Amino acid sequence: MAEVVDTVLRPVIPVLELVRDLLNSLCAGKEPWQVMIYTCASTLVAVAAYNFIFQEEPITVRAKRTFFKIMRMIPQVKRKIDEQLSSTLIYIRKEKNTHLGGQDYVQYLPKQGLAKDELMIELNKYKALDRGNWQDGWVSGMVYNGQMDLTDIMSTTYGMFAWSNPLHPEVFPNVVKMEAEIVRMTCNMFNGGPKAVGTMSTGGTESILLVCMAYRNMIQEKRGVKFPEIIVPITAHAAFDKAAHILRMKITHIPVDPITCKVDMKAMRRAIGRKTCMLVGSAPGFPHGVIDPIQEIAELGMNNNIPVHVDACLGGFLIAFMGKAGYPIEPFDFQVPGVTSISADTHKYGYAPKGSSVIMYSDAKFRHYQFFQQVNWPGGVYATPTLGGSRAGAIIAACWSAMMFMGESGYVDATRKIITTARYIIEELRKNDHITVMGDPQVSVVAIKSDRFDVYRLVDKLHTRGYTLNPLQFPASIHLCVTLVHTKKGVADRFVKDIRELTTEIMKNPDLKAVGQAAVYGLAQSVPDRSLVKELASMYLDSCYSTDNSSPAANGVA
Ligand SMILES: *Cc1c(COP(=O)(O)O)cnc(C)c1O
Repeated sequence: MAEVVDTVLRPVIPVLELVRDLLNSLCAGKEPWQVMIYTCASTLVAVAAYNFIFQEEPITVRAKRTFFKIMRMIPQVKRKIDEQLSSTLIYIRKEKNTHLGGQDYVQYLPKQGLAKDELMIELNKYKALDRGNWQDGWVSGMVYNGQMDLTDIMSTTYGMFAWSNPLHPEVFPNVVKMEAEIVRMTCNMFNGGPKAVGTMSTGGTESILLVCMAYRNMIQEKRGVKFPEIIVPITAHAAFDKAAHILRMKITHIPVDPITCKVDMKAMRRAIGRKTCMLVGSAPGFPHGVIDPIQEIAELGMNNNIPVHVDACLGGFLIAFMGKAGYPIEPFDFQVPGVTSISADTHKYGYAPKGSSVIMYSDAKFRHYQFFQQVNWPGGVYATPTLGGSRAGAIIAACWSAMMFMGESGYVDATRKIITTARYIIEELRKNDHITVMGDPQVSVVAIKSDRFDVYRLVDKLHTRGYTLNPLQFPASIHLCVTLVHTKKGVADRFVKDIRELTTEIMKNPDLKAVGQAAVYGLAQSVPDRSLVKELASMYLDSCYSTDNSSPAANGVA
């Protein structure tokens, strides 16, 4: 032992002596109080520098922001930007007014409540603003089922349970039972076994927030990590960014392979650290509809003792039935060792009304970290499973009805129709040389890009034919999310034909740039100052809440 210490320390001793001499010469001639003050001051400076460099946001991001802030102080730059912003604002308002057909806003409560027939007249005016074009497959995603029999069942159910609230199980044991049954049926769909548990939530975003919170609470309690980190593919839903923001966690985005659009496993492995509290894979991801390598992510999580979440919000109620529908895919659920949680939205392909989703855990120990209890509140012992307090029992009931009405055979049938249609569209689009289908989409989303023309021009042209597709960025691309409405006869063929005609038309002048709404997406993607894009987006949100359709400056829209 002594020898080891000797051989290790011997070469270090001269260095230490050198340091000592250096420090002594620095302090030579100084009085002890000076040495103390200098020591304290330099420690404080070092701590301040450390805190400045290592913040939640990396220093590079902050430096860039400061740079743009300074740039915007230059009068010419400022004027140019303000011009651009206000012309965009005028554009946003014009679009909105067109959608509203110039109708005025209600600003005050009616002095006297409306009679039912008067109310119906008003409601019908609002109903008429719904373009209704989703029914014939002109929009991507949004309405996942839309069939009248299901609509009727859900409306009736809503009416029957309109006043119910699962916050009060003693009064509304019915909706509490329904929620438990929805969770159990969903856990069984995902091969969770008897140990799997879950809760419902108001949507995918809440489900994701809850699971991030559970894993954050767990690592904080077990290992005392103050600011835990989550690791997600760059293609994972923005709800993870929102969750990280709200929960004050660091989020690391892992790039995806440019060809397969699947997460880069090597990069994910390298990103893992002491503070990592969860790994995420999407099944499938929203942008390109591609399923991440769930088995590899789960194995990585298991080897590092990190929980793994599978985000199946979008396609959960498709992939769970794909095997039975004749389109087998690789295992993605609780059968895969290492998968500790799954989110699946009942309000997407579960065909339930908006405001419902399910979050599942492989074991009750994880769910406990999601619960909240305040046992000292004068209002009573307060305990809730999710973010809300009171919750809409009627939505739970309507979701229950949708699932019971569909049944396994209903979901399998719908899945078969949707996947068959999506595969047909993919196959047809692959024949078009002007565009590229991104990755190998297995489920219902098909994303395309083009290296021959500005793909946002295709958004423009599709728009004039009546389509509403999703524009994507980094890289510029667009996607169609196939739902039951697209499985109607002729819809897929019309879409494929329209794409063929429009791309041919575009290729006559391949170098033109997009105009109108599509140009905004191009612009938003190319602006290096991302804070400007944020400003634009919040201007847009302001405009949604503005109840004045005359002046652009009204109601907080500046
Ligand atoms: C839609 C979606 C979400 C979020 O769901 P919301 O219900 O819109 O909050 C999460 N992940 C994926 C992959 C989605 O497509």
